[in-house]
Amino acid sequence: MPEPDFRVIASDAGEGITYTCGCPCVPTAAPGASGPGHEHCCCGKVHFVGAGASAALDAYLAERKATKKREPEYTRGATTVSLAGAPVEVAWAFPA
Ligand SMILES: [Zn+2]
Ligand SMILES: [Zn+2]
Repeated sequence: MPEPDFRVIASDAGEGITYTCGCPCVPTAAPGASGPGHEHCCCGKVHFVGAGASAALDAYLAERKATKKREPEYTRGATTVSLAGAPVEVAWAFPA
C-alpha cells in the first residue's frame, strides 16, 4: 500500500494532519496536551499524530484486538510531517 498523502489542514481546533481517506470524511488529528491525538475514520482507517504516535497506535490496536470481536488486520506505517514549522510523528493503520 502506498504511503497516505498526509498534509496539514486548518480545523476549528487549530492545525491538524489529514490525508485523502477515500470516504467523504476529512479525518484530522493533532497532538494533544497529554500525548498524541488520533482519529479513527468511519471507514476503519486510523492515524495518530504527535510524539509517541507509533507507541500510542500500538496500545490502541492491542486494546481493540482484545475487546472487539471483528477487528481487521491492519497495514501500518509511520512517517514525519511538518506541522507549525516542526516535524511531528504520524503513525497510521489502515484495514488490510
Ligand atoms: Zn468516513
Ligand atoms: Zn474514511
